[in-house]
Amino acid sequence: MINIRKIPLRTMISGLAHKISVIEYRHPQAKANVYLQAALHAAETNGIALIKAMREFLEKNDFPYNVTLVPFANPFAMDIKIGEYTYGRFDTKTGENWNRGFKNLLMPVCGLDKIDLQEFVVKYQNQGFDQLCQAFHKLLSKRLQVCIQHDIAPHEKLANTLHKLALDADFSFDLHCDSISVPYIYAPSYLKDKRLCHFISDYFIFTPNEPSGCFNQAIFYPWWQLITYWNELTGEEQQSPKHAFTYEMGNKETFDSKSAQNLLNGMIAYIQNNNIPETQDKKYGCQEADFFRVRASLGGIIEYDDAQLGKIHNKHVKLGSLHTQSSILGIQEAIEITLPINAILLTRTSSATMHEGDEVFKVMSNYFKI
Ligand SMILES: [Zn+2]
Repeated sequence: MINIRKIPLRTMISGLAHKISVIEYRHPQAKANVYLQAALHAAETNGIALIKAMREFLEKNDFPYNVTLVPFANPFAMDIKIGEYTYGRFDTKTGENWNRGFKNLLMPVCGLDKIDLQEFVVKYQNQGFDQLCQAFHKLLSKRLQVCIQHDIAPHEKLANTLHKLALDADFSFDLHCDSISVPYIYAPSYLKDKRLCHFISDYFIFTPNEPSGCFNQAIFYPWWQLITYWNELTGEEQQSPKHAFTYEMGNKETFDSKSAQNLLNGMIAYIQNNNIPETQDKKYGCQEADFFRVRASLGGIIEYDDAQLGKIHNKHVKLGSLHTQSSILGIQEAIEITLPINAILLTRTSSATMHEGDEVFKVMSNYFKI
């Protein structure tokens, strides 16, 4: 049973109004709740292709889960074009990153005191883990509702609206894209497990138990903290119930139905978790601190070699050339771009032109097999 509803978001100077369209699929024997949102960074559009494929899958199949889909998570930003490009990542007026307004609901928010987790878990110690989780969900939901009534800044209002839609999800996927990139996934490090082999993408960045204003961390961080306190107090080894991912689905400014369908197949396999495929030899992970940017050593123009994306590179191997003004004028040679360490190259910036210090690549170092 599929229902579509629209949540009013923001009225414009012109009198037009943006709404968030929500596709809701509800199953009478749902095993869990699944949430997908796309294009929060509005130029990162391939997630919309994946959500379209998911909607079509749900129309044809009996999928025993409740699924909530938000294909256009940031309709205001989607409408802002600069030249031929969608600006997408930042609010043009304030410079705010649209994926940094999500609340850490454990902290003091909107006049509410911070949650004393120690006190909270002690209170539920004799009632058991399930009761604890139910009460914690209720508490987060109540606090978020206060924020929704209180916050009117655009990036916070958008974040609160999406946060509420995702709050009860066991599986949540925030669908993004990088500049020019192979697909890769951010996951909280407690999900480092062979189950990740269900995904079609081969690269995983593991996020530590730290808060941030981005969607994914806002979903998993409070639960990770709660479960850490609970396990310390009770000696149990409970796992956080949140399978929360940021999925970087390849190149931004694309809509590629074939790749989206392929990535969706892996996502559905992860959710269902039947026979884990023997693909661990192909799957690599690193800690978030080891996923770093390579920057231009001088201003100039980069000649990329996109065949190198997704490959393991030994240090000092050439990944591209930096043509400076001096090299164009014939005064000096072009500069070879190499890495100081062995690393896997995942992304390169869309533009070839660089000022000194601009991001050229993002690479995984200290990588390991899943
Ligand atoms: Zn993004």
